[in-house]
Amino acid sequence: MSDFVSDFMARVKAKNPAEPEFHQAVKEVVESVELVLEKHPEYRKAKIMERISEPERVIMFRIPWVDDQGDYHVNRGFRIEMNSAIGPYKGGLRFHPSVNLGILKFLAFEQVFKNSLTTLPMGGGKGGSDFDPKGKSDDEVMRFCQSFMMELYRHIGPNTDIPAGDIGVGGREIGFLFGTYKKIRNEFAGILTGKGLNWGGSLIRPEATGYGAVYFAAEMLATRGETLEGKTCLVSGSGNVAQYTTEKILDLGGKIVTLSDSGGYIYDPDGIDREKLNYVMELKNLRRGRISEFAEKYPSAAYHPADSSNVDHNPLWDHKADCAFPSATQNEINKEDAQNLIKNGVYVVSEGANMPTTPDGVDVYLGNKILYGPGKAANAGGVAVSGLEMSQNSMRYSWSREEVDKKLHGIMKSIHTSCLQAAEQYGSPGNYVNGANIAGFIKVADSMLDQGIFG
Ligand code: NDP
Repeated sequence: MSDFVSDFMARVKAKNPAEPEFHQAVKEVVESVELVLEKHPEYRKAKIMERISEPERVIMFRIPWVDDQGDYHVNRGFRIEMNSAIGPYKGGLRFHPSVNLGILKFLAFEQVFKNSLTTLPMGGGKGGSDFDPKGKSDDEVMRFCQSFMMELYRHIGPNTDIPAGDIGVGGREIGFLFGTYKKIRNEFAGILTGKGLNWGGSLIRPEATGYGAVYFAAEMLATRGETLEGKTCLVSGSGNVAQYTTEKILDLGGKIVTLSDSGGYIYDPDGIDREKLNYVMELKNLRRGRISEFAEKYPSAAYHPADSSNVDHNPLWDHKADCAFPSATQNEINKEDAQNLIKNGVYVVSEGANMPTTPDGVDVYLGNKILYGPGKAANAGGVAVSGLEMSQNSMRYSWSREEVDKKLHGIMKSIHTSCLQAAEQYGSPGNYVNGANIAGFIKVADSMLDQGIFG
């Protein structure tokens, strides 16, 4: 680590104690852009890196709600408005018990560069709560969402901040949040994306992150003259991103052998075909069940419960395969898991999740020169189609499924090209991590310079 990076990180850590995920995300970017800062003294003079790693605004609030038994609860809500240099704040809401300030700051920080890569005019933000929707009734989730929006509504708006879904926030939650905003403001406005099709949503938005991650993998494979046809793929998670990653891999002729949730994972050597995927969608989206039930339904699959006593080895990543699509959560692949992936033949990793690989795991990928698409590039399809949903809302018009999918595909190709070009220009050809960070950074940095000290 250079003196510049270590001094910079020492200041970030002192200012933002006990936020390891935020430190991890900032360190990766500052390492990637160090050369850019050397070549552009104007960025150093304007303290772009210092400003970009400081949220423009952090909102933290109390969310009181009442359960079905009449008992009172209180959760904590957040919205991190990280950077608005290139457009209004944009980024998802996460409802998960692990949510805290540091996790949301890491996600908001990543979002700034990701949104810049999409070519659409969107700044970066993220929010959520430590509320756990698991095991709650629809009415309880509705009351929670209403209480959450009772505070959030004053901070968002179609030209200010436009949240979307993330872990634990899907179509059901977006509906409850939207209804509450409409009630409070007496205004039907595009203040959220991921809306239902009948009330301003975009076709392909639910599919976009997963489809995009697979398009990105296909672009990486094309640099070696290969396709996904016949490739065996490991997918983690079984939520929104994992489901549509699976669907697109099937479309492109690949075979998926794993899926997971926080309880464990299933390995199905026969492959997860469309019928099995439909079952997973019904299980997860309608019945809100556990992935263990998959193995009860399909005898070809084995269920492996998560082993909390051995956090260093996630056996999901220890199966023969060509490609991996981590689609659950941050830091789900560590150094040992990355080594296992490579030992088992994996040479394509396209991250549907945000920062699913630890830094020493990323070093393993880069050291072995595999095709590695980091989350901020590979999973940008979701926010890209959110941007298209905003455009359609502004026009009061909707594009067809084919049109949106074509635009999504075009955006993923363009992100892939930008990453490769930036990596090449700054001396690390083929390194998508540097490429994504540099390409995302330069557009935001130049916009901040243009807008002066408040940019
Ligand atoms: P969902 O809530 O739909 O699904 C999340 C999945 O990951 C579930 O299977 C969940 O299991 C599992 N999971 C969540 N947390 C953990 C954990 N701590 N340990 C193990 N498994 C876990 O979320 P999404 O599919 O929307 O999001 C998945 C990832 O993709 C996240 O990293 C998110 O930030 C990222 N992402 C999502 C986008 C989107 O458009 N939705 C856009 C870009 C990135 P369980 O149900 O048991 O909790």
